[in-house]
Amino acid sequence: SDLQSSALARVAPSATLAATAKARALKAEGRNIISLGAGEPDFDTPETIKAAAIAAIQRGETKYTDVDGLPELKAAIVAKFARENGLSYTAAQIHVAPGGKPVIYNALVATLNAGDEVIVPAPYWVSYPDMVLLAGGDPVFVTGEEADGFKLRPEVLEAAITPRTKWLILNSPSNPTGAAYTRAELEALAEVLRRHPHVWVLTDDMYEHLIYGDFQYTTIAQVAPDLYDRTLTVNGVSKAYAMTGWRIGYAGGPKPLIDLMRKVASQTTSNPASISQWAAVEALNGPQDFLPERGAAFERRRDLVVSMLNQATGIRCPTPEGAFYVYPSIHGLIGKTAPDGTVIDGDEAFATALLEAEGVSVVHGAAFGLSPYFRISYATSEAVLEDACARIQRFAASLR
Ligand code: PLP
Repeated sequence: SDLQSSALARVAPSATLAATAKARALKAEGRNIISLGAGEPDFDTPETIKAAAIAAIQRGETKYTDVDGLPELKAAIVAKFARENGLSYTAAQIHVAPGGKPVIYNALVATLNAGDEVIVPAPYWVSYPDMVLLAGGDPVFVTGEEADGFKLRPEVLEAAITPRTKWLILNSPSNPTGAAYTRAELEALAEVLRRHPHVWVLTDDMYEHLIYGDFQYTTIAQVAPDLYDRTLTVNGVSKAYAMTGWRIGYAGGPKPLIDLMRKVASQTTSNPASISQWAAVEALNGPQDFLPERGAAFERRRDLVVSMLNQATGIRCPTPEGAFYVYPSIHGLIGKTAPDGTVIDGDEAFATALLEAEGVSVVHGAAFGLSPYFRISYATSEAVLEDACARIQRFAASLR
C-alpha cells in the first residue's frame, strides 16, 4: 500500500516474536504449551540493582540526561571495558542507548548509504539483516557451518568482502547457536580484516558473561588492537544482569563514530531512562557474585538439554560454549512423516508439527539463516526443560 515506506517494506517482522505469540495464543485456548522461544533470562533483576533504581527515583534523578548517557554510567562502562576486556576507552568514546538493539541500529543508520554492504554471518540474530535493510544497506550472508561450530571461516570472510563492504557483524557467544570464538579464531579473522582497511567491525558481545566450562572469553579489539580504530564493541546489561525490561545497552568505539551515533540519538530517542541508567551504574560497579551462581545454573541446563536432545531419534545437538541457546540439527528427520500425516520437509514444518503434536514451541532455523535446525532457549527451569526434551524425544520417535 501507499502507507508503508519502501525502506520498511524491505523488512520482515521478527520470527522469534511471532513464535512466542503463537505459543501464547495456544496457551490461551487452554493447551498445555511449553515455550522455549523467548530470549531472556528467567532470573529476576538482582535486589541491589533494583534498590539503586528506587534510590535514584527518591533522589529526584528523573529528568533528561546527556543524550548518550550519564557521566556516572559512562565512567562505569569505561571501568568495565578496562577491567573485563583490557580495552581502553575514554568517556567520549562511549554510547549508551535504550538497549543493545538501538545501539546497533544507531551505528548502522549513522554510517550506511544505499548499496553499502554489511556481512552478516549465519546463523544470525534475527534483527541484524532487517536493521541493515531499514538503515538502507544490503546484508550479505555468509555461513558458519555446523562442522565449524557454526563459526565463520577466514576464507569465507575473505571471499565475501567487496569494495562496498562497510561492516562485518560478529556475535560471540551467538544467538542462536551459543557458539563463541576462541582467541585463535578471532586472530584468523583479524588477519583477513588487516588486508581490507575499509571494513569496520561491529562485535555484539551481549552474552559475554554467559560462558561455560573453561572457555576463555575474548573480544576482537582486545585480540587485534590494530583494529581498535574501526571496531565498535557493543554490550549491555539485558542478558548478564537479567535486565531486559530496563532497556540499557552500550558500546565503546572510535570517537568519530560515537559522535555520529550521538547525532542520531539526539534527534530520535534522546537519552535512555534516567532511572534505568542509575540501575546500570549499580549493575556494572556493584557486586558481581550472582554471575557465577547463575552461570552454573545455565551450564547445568545446557548439559541437560544437550544430553536429552542427543538421545532423540534423528536429532544431533552440538554443545555450545555460551549464551542460553542450543541449535540442534534435524537432518536426520527430513522426509519423515508425523502421525497426523504432516511431512517434515524442513525446519518450519518440524516446528509447526512439534507444537501441534506435543505443545513445545521452538523457533525454526530458517529464521536465523541456516536450515534444517531449530533453536531452543534454555533460560527456564530444569523441570520444564526435562519435560520439553522428553516431549521432543517422543515426537521424534513418532515420525515414520
Ligand atoms: N544482541 C543479541 C545477540 C541479542 O540476542 C539481543 C536480544 O535478544 C540483543 C542484542 C538486544 O539486546 P537488548 O534487549 O539490550 O536490546
